[in-house]
This record gives sequence, structure tokens and C-alpha cells, in this order.
Amino acid sequence: MVDIRSVHKSFGPLEVLKGIDLSVRAGEVTVVLGPSGSGKSTLLRTINHLEKVDRGAVSVDGTLIGYRRVGGRLHELPEREVLKQRTRIGFVFQNFHLFPHLTVVENVVEAPVSALKRPREQAVRDARRLLERVGLADKADAYPKQLSGGQQQRVAIARALALEPKLLLFDEPTSALDPELVGEVLDVIRDLARQGTTMIVVTHEIGFAREVADTVVFMADGRIVEQGPPGQVLDAPREERTRAFLSKVL
Ligand code: ATP
Ligand code: MG
Repeated sequence: MVDIRSVHKSFGPLEVLKGIDLSVRAGEVTVVLGPSGSGKSTLLRTINHLEKVDRGAVSVDGTLIGYRRVGGRLHELPEREVLKQRTRIGFVFQNFHLFPHLTVVENVVEAPVSALKRPREQAVRDARRLLERVGLADKADAYPKQLSGGQQQRVAIARALALEPKLLLFDEPTSALDPELVGEVLDVIRDLARQGTTMIVVTHEIGFAREVADTVVFMADGRIVEQGPPGQVLDAPREERTRAFLSKVL
């Protein structure tokens, strides 16, 4: 489903991704761990071309992201085409990024109406169903600032789901939340995993990774140091750097 091949990315002189290879199968959950600055967010951002790669390629569901191959050479797609590709890849950020001036249901309806040209009535019906799925049916007409962080993040997840993405990316979805609100967001992500949603989740929630991940990837300094099933990477890491990291977060 997701194929990341030899991806390199620098910001000026700083090489942030030093050749990343990663495959994610349809229906699987990959959890990415690693110290601050190791390149986790940058990697997620290259997957939907929010960050342009310097070398290598990303494809999602067989489609090259951000480029078109013409006679062996890659040509960057026009912004309009990139936006279209992005509609099939949901992205949930640490800080929710809801539209503050729109109600909860309007937040969820916005993208399907503007990007997929869904009739508004249908989009509203779908949005209410999604809000029910994340346990927020009763908050449909509230504004984001009237919600807790955990509720806002669940709206952000409903909004991502409204585009019926093939793939969902989460960048530390619970790290801005008070501890008592983390569980309700992880519950929603866990439900999505059960339903076979393909996801890549950057998180420091090791318990969640152990329970939900098919694959755990440990990144450090722009490289994948180690990857495998949670039982291996979390409980019997082969690499010293993985052990050192885990001993700090566990
Ligand atoms: P954290 O756990 O703190 O979120 P991370 O693993 O997500 O860290 P990235 O955000 O991917 O790390 O950043 C990797 C490195 O790239 C950092 O040194 C960061 O300062 C640098 N970086 C990221 N984005 C940019 C940018 N737009 N311009 C310049 N440097 C950047
Ligand atoms: Mg990050």
C-alpha cells in the first residue's frame, strides 16, 4: 500500500532523512518511534508531498506521490494534482488544526464538499455518522474552542475520515493532550485499526504500539535503525540505540 524507497531529504546543510526504505501493507498499522529530531514528522510529510523529497520516491496504493514518471525521469506534478492525491491520504496533527470559526460538523463537511464535490446534505449526513463513530454526535453544533483537546482531536480524526482516505497518517496525535484525555483518542485509533484502516502513527505511547502495531519502526538520526513486530522491537530490540531510547520512554 505504501512504498517508500530510498528517500533522502535535507534542509540546507542538514540531512534529515538519509535513505529511508519502508513498506506498509494494506490494513496494517505501523508505529514510528524515535528521539526528537530524528526525522519522524519529516518522513510523514514526504508521504503526502507536504515535503518534497530530494531523492527516492514514495508511492501510495500504486500511485507515485508528487511526481509523474516520463521516460524514466520524474517530473513534479502541478499543485492541483498534488492536492488531489492528498485528498486520499488523511493527516492528523498533534495540534488538531481545526477551523476555529466553523462548528464541529462544518469542520468535517468542509473537505468532502470542496474537494470531492459531495452534495452538502449528503456530506452532513456522512459527517454526523462519523461523529457518532468517534463518540461526538452530541457536539456536532459546538465550536472547537468549546471542546476538550481529546474531543478536538477526535473531530480531527472524523474530518480526516470524511475523505475516505486509503491511508491515515498520525503525527503524535496525543502528545498535546492532558494525560486523562489520551485514552479516548487512542481508543478511536484502535477501533480504526480493528476495522482494517491502513495507518502510520508517530507516537511515544509504547503500550499502544505494543497492542495495535503490526510493525514498529525505530528511527534515529534520519535512518531506520530497526523495524519489526512489536514483540521484537519493543521487547527484544537488537540495536543498542533502540534499547537506550526505550529505557528512557518506558
Ligand atoms: P519531534 O519528535 O521533536 O517531533 P521529529 O523526529 O519529528 O522530532 P522532524 O520534525 O522530522 O523530527 O525534524 C528533523 C530535523 O529536521 C530537525 O533537526 C528539525 O529541526 C529539522 N527540520 C524540520 N523541518 C524543517 C524545516 N522546514 N526547515 C529546516 N529544518 C527543518
Ligand atoms: Mg515530529
